[in-house]
Amino acid sequence: MRRVSFAPHIWRRYASNYHVPGWETVIGLEVHAQLKSQAKLFSGPFSGGLDDAPNTRVSPFDAAFPGTLPIVNVQCVESAVRMALALGASVQQKSTFDRKHYFYPDLPAGYQITQKYAPIALGGFLALHKSERRVRIKQLQLEQDTGKSRSEAESSYHAIDLNRAGNALVEIVSEPDMRSAEEAADYVRTLQALIRNLGVGDAQMEDGSFRCDANISVHREGQTFGTRCEIKNLNSVKSLVVAISTEVARHVETLLAGSAVMQETRGFDEMRTQTYPLRSKEDAPDYRYLPDANLPPLLIDQGFLEHMRQTMPELPDAIEARLQRQYSLSQLTAKALAGSSTGYSINGTDVQYFERAAQYGHPTSVANWLVNELRPLLQSDFASSSISPERIGLLAELVHSGEITYASGRTVLHDMVQHPSDERPADVVARLGLQKVSNASHLEELCKRCLEELPAEVEKYRTGNERVLNKMVGYVRRLSQGTAEPAAITNMLRSLLANEK
Ligand code: ADP
Ligand code: MG
Repeated sequence: MRRVSFAPHIWRRYASNYHVPGWETVIGLEVHAQLKSQAKLFSGPFSGGLDDAPNTRVSPFDAAFPGTLPIVNVQCVESAVRMALALGASVQQKSTFDRKHYFYPDLPAGYQITQKYAPIALGGFLALHKSERRVRIKQLQLEQDTGKSRSEAESSYHAIDLNRAGNALVEIVSEPDMRSAEEAADYVRTLQALIRNLGVGDAQMEDGSFRCDANISVHREGQTFGTRCEIKNLNSVKSLVVAISTEVARHVETLLAGSAVMQETRGFDEMRTQTYPLRSKEDAPDYRYLPDANLPPLLIDQGFLEHMRQTMPELPDAIEARLQRQYSLSQLTAKALAGSSTGYSINGTDVQYFERAAQYGHPTSVANWLVNELRPLLQSDFASSSISPERIGLLAELVHSGEITYASGRTVLHDMVQHPSDERPADVVARLGLQKVSNASHLEELCKRCLEELPAEVEKYRTGNERVLNKMVGYVRRLSQGTAEPAAITNMLRSLLANEK
């Protein structure tokens, strides 16, 4: 899929919380998340990945051969139920499947199986992270994905790939409870973290496993909601934010000019950073919804639901709270480990990694080394570093206990990332000669050398310039190759300078 970076001036214009005084923005999101499963929602083969050759993951049912019948995939039902429970939605004892008809080449049956009238779950909410807002969930439903079609430029061919056709999606529809583009972005990120944490999907906007349509309206403060437009297929959080901001501006400008906003479905042109009409309400297709005669109602009994409840993994918000309570971590650090801000902790893997590492070192120090030092060196979760939790824990402890300086700790970490091995951190310290200069005579030697080599600074210090001391401390640290502790250097320099007077 094409990825776009916006020109900086445009990004600046729309990145901030775009708000027109006197007006209020209302946003509701419809999210389609692909559910991970070995099989499709109603048929066998599953599209293993984006790398599969076209049309190699297609069963006769996916291609709508006559006589083929759907069988619901229980794993997908479980995933949807887990999502519903995580959102506090009420799982319906009975839900049904409908056919939504439209004619497009990537939909061989001429209809999509979805749950319009009796979805699998109703209600619930998602608590945002950057504000106190709880966005209410309207409903959650199971449905099939379509195939992919592509028109080849300057040719009369239309290429169809049915690998994706019939994949399981869960659609999560929010109530119109968000009030800014930032809140919409927060909602998306929070939902992505939840899906990954539950292990039910990858939730990547960029590869299409998490797709989002935004409904937007504006009204004057204190009045009733305005007419909404729906913007289709936004494929990054950045696009979502910019599309909402441009759309809000368009609505306000239209209303200020004395015109009315028409209810429409719109697309978003990333290059021109504006939305454009796709179809008006009058052109809305008639989907001719019908119950799917081949699928009996989906019945979920209390025993199954109870089993799901008891086997739910710990959710990001609960993990965050527990990390703060159990290990005295700051909220920011706990968030980073729980994956609610980074989205890295798939299935809570980063949390497990931290908890194992924290058996070998002081927890707050271990968390700091993971979040602030190891994280920036990686593209993925901590386990991908091939450094064992034990080694990180021991390294953090060497620094925490004052064995080595923070700077030396960094050198050791870089060595560990570059040379995967089982070498104990203390042995890496010895190999790299990073033992702390605790030997007073050695430190004194380095400080004396500094005073000799920086006569101008010594002079300034004598005439009352205290700040120049920082420069001298830095100089000695470099002489020690980071193995001398700044506080020890400062004390030594002060006493030498005092004696010289
Ligand atoms: P429909 O039944 O026509 O699909 P819904 O009531 O299901 O409409 O709403 C679809 C989406 O539009 C939901 O996400 C909802 O939150 C959102 N929405 C509804 N009214 C508004 C509004 N006035 N402004 C912004 N979004 C809205
Ligand atoms: Mg809809």
